[in-house]
Amino acid sequence: MKPLNPTFSSLGTTIFSVMSGLAVQHGAINLGQGFPDTDGPLEVRERAARALVEGPNQYPPMPGIEPLRQALSAHARKFYDLSYDWRTEIVVTSGGTEALTASIMAVVKPGDEVILFEPAYDCYRPVIEAVGGIARPVRLQAPDWTLTADMLAGAFNARTKAVILNSPMNPAGKVFSDVELGMIADHLERFDAIAICDEVYEHLTYDGIAHRPLATRPGMRARCLRVGSAGKIFSLTGWKVGWVEGDAALMSTVAKAHQFITFTTPTALQLGIAHGLEHCERYFMSLAAEFQANRDYLAAKLGRIGLRPLAAQGTYFLTADFSSLGFNGTDVEFCRQMTERAGVAAIPLSAFYSADTGQKLIRFAFCKQRHVLEEAVARLQRHYA
Ligand code: PMP
Ligand code: GLN
Repeated sequence: MKPLNPTFSSLGTTIFSVMSGLAVQHGAINLGQGFPDTDGPLEVRERAARALVEGPNQYPPMPGIEPLRQALSAHARKFYDLSYDWRTEIVVTSGGTEALTASIMAVVKPGDEVILFEPAYDCYRPVIEAVGGIARPVRLQAPDWTLTADMLAGAFNARTKAVILNSPMNPAGKVFSDVELGMIADHLERFDAIAICDEVYEHLTYDGIAHRPLATRPGMRARCLRVGSAGKIFSLTGWKVGWVEGDAALMSTVAKAHQFITFTTPTALQLGIAHGLEHCERYFMSLAAEFQANRDYLAAKLGRIGLRPLAAQGTYFLTADFSSLGFNGTDVEFCRQMTERAGVAAIPLSAFYSADTGQKLIRFAFCKQRHVLEEAVARLQRHYA
């Protein structure tokens, strides 16, 4: 048989599936794959359930149902003073993942370079490469993951078509600062490039740090595609409802990519999320406080076990350095062993890099109930004591 598409045939299974599988196999507490262990608002689920029974159950409009696009338009205006016309500037997708795929397919053509900031979420690169683009990783350095002008100057060139900017950033927990956003904006203008802004953790920032979309900066609305996910906002990660927002000139092509990837997203789920955006703001506004307390609890306990925590300004995730535990293998080996022997699963940070870093960093998800985190900590204490 002729070879299949090497972009995908050469890939392994994602680290999230691998570690979740291993956690189940060993009865480990899963602090690997990022998903909350309590479901979002009951009324959101009830709205979707009623819609499943009562309908409509046939194809919704390709860009998404009107009430959801209208609610998203109101959300962007309310939180960021960003104005998107729901008719032409918002497309509802099957999760942030499809939103990213549609955005990359719309923007990138063969030979275009796309800048990524590593550690980078794992779904960007394969899609960039599948459409013939070239990923240009910029490696941010732990522990504070600061982006410098030199890094950007070394990455941008005449072939740069786009940047993928994930802020708040998975797995680093970093929120890009105003200075960093300003530097990125300058480069986008200078090199006439587009930003695909993965903002799925927009409402999960801590310590009073605010999420500022790059699109809010002068001149940037026209250059930014803003990707969001209801899974993160309403703790319904299995629903896979996401969206892209951007200037009509960009969004018309994003919509054409979306129409041939999934065409639509289940109506009932869209109705549920529209209800949530209109009526359940309190839910997502209070989630960050709960998760911040979880972060603080986990960071303090991990530190005492010898898993040195790094700062986390946003997202579900805390990164920890295991080098003081005297383990000689890789981060992947450490995570496997911790899952099998300590009974707690985490994600090795090497999964987010295009080349070996030799770092000893692993990622813990803290979007869990407190008693689950307590049990995980107790297991780690027993094993590493
Ligand atoms: N981007 C980032 C940074 C993520 O962490 C995730 C998933 N957790 C996604 C995109 C995908 O979102 P969704 O589950 O809505 O597809
Ligand atoms: N985004 C989630 C994480 O980082 C995982 C999503 C997935 O499993 N594809 O853990």
